Amino acid sequence: MNTATMTPPMIFDGHNDLLTRLWLSSAADPVHDFIHGTLPGHLDLQRCQQAGWLGGLFSIFLPPYGYVKNNHPDKLTNPENTDFTPQEIVDIYCAQLQLAHALQAESNGQIQICTSVAQIIHCQKNNQLAIVLHVEGAEFLAIQPELLDTFYAAGLRSIGPLWNRKSLFGDGLNAAFPHSPDTGSGLTDAGKDLVVTCAKKGMLIDVSHMNERAFWDTLEITNQPIVATHSNAHALCPQARNLTDPQLSAIKERGGMVGVNFDVAFLRADGQRNIQTALDVIIDHLAYLLEHLGDDHVGFGSDFDGCLLPESLSDVRDMDKLLARMQQRNFSEALINQIASENWFRVLEKIWH
Ligand SMILES: [Zn+2]
Repeated sequence: MNTATMTPPMIFDGHNDLLTRLWLSSAADPVHDFIHGTLPGHLDLQRCQQAGWLGGLFSIFLPPYGYVKNNHPDKLTNPENTDFTPQEIVDIYCAQLQLAHALQAESNGQIQICTSVAQIIHCQKNNQLAIVLHVEGAEFLAIQPELLDTFYAAGLRSIGPLWNRKSLFGDGLNAAFPHSPDTGSGLTDAGKDLVVTCAKKGMLIDVSHMNERAFWDTLEITNQPIVATHSNAHALCPQARNLTDPQLSAIKERGGMVGVNFDVAFLRADGQRNIQTALDVIIDHLAYLLEHLGDDHVGFGSDFDGCLLPESLSDVRDMDKLLARMQQRNFSEALINQIASENWFRVLEKIWH
């Protein structure tokens, strides 16, 4: 294929942690910095536009307490405490939701929170950044369940009920290496209720941080396509966060989707946090997932702003290197377009009703 004649695809991405990074930022006005292209990290508006990065699922996330205490003690009401207070937990989720709305409000029409595929495609045509709101780990709903409706009204359309820690909704996932994803018991009754309620609302249920039992529970109590927004193939990297072949078969059967995660620890066969990781390792995971899921069920789930990237993928602008390498590895233009955005559009269309 002639690289020069290929139109660069617009990339829609299954997962990033920008909103959490904005919340953690010590800058005076991180929203302004994002919009005006001076924010450090993997993403800002100008770099996204340069990269043809249309947007994706933007995660609202409660970081581990120890991480916040050690690195951002100013974000805590009392650094002498040993864990978040319930009020802090609620406030952290609400603050990140507000940051997403501030991005939209202050962007002069360049950033749009989207709740339909039609809106995302409208953004694509108008060179706007499309934000789909996602929650990773739903601890705030254990404290104030009524906030689900508030967040839904504010645009939330995707939820991963569990993160790695234990909560009211279930055991988290112990992201051990090497380890199978079977790291604890599955969804609690409250977890099942939450999944069923969110699925009824037409929200995407993300299984990326579910341990194996919670994954199978979700399959049993919903009938929507099963989506792992940012996970890789366990056969290539035996990290508990990655998906086994039987899980991939179940995702395929349900018409679901996997977004490939660029974090080196979830890519490498040795599980090391080593940035000297070739782009080809990402392509190997894509190829494996394509083989097991089919062309319609694989996309990107970069984990930008929340992961350790391979050194040749320093930020979103290097997506062109990855796309070029996919071409060199004989991915057709049609397949690249599917992976870059179309598969996400198809699965979101099916889930959001
Ligand atoms: Zn994650």
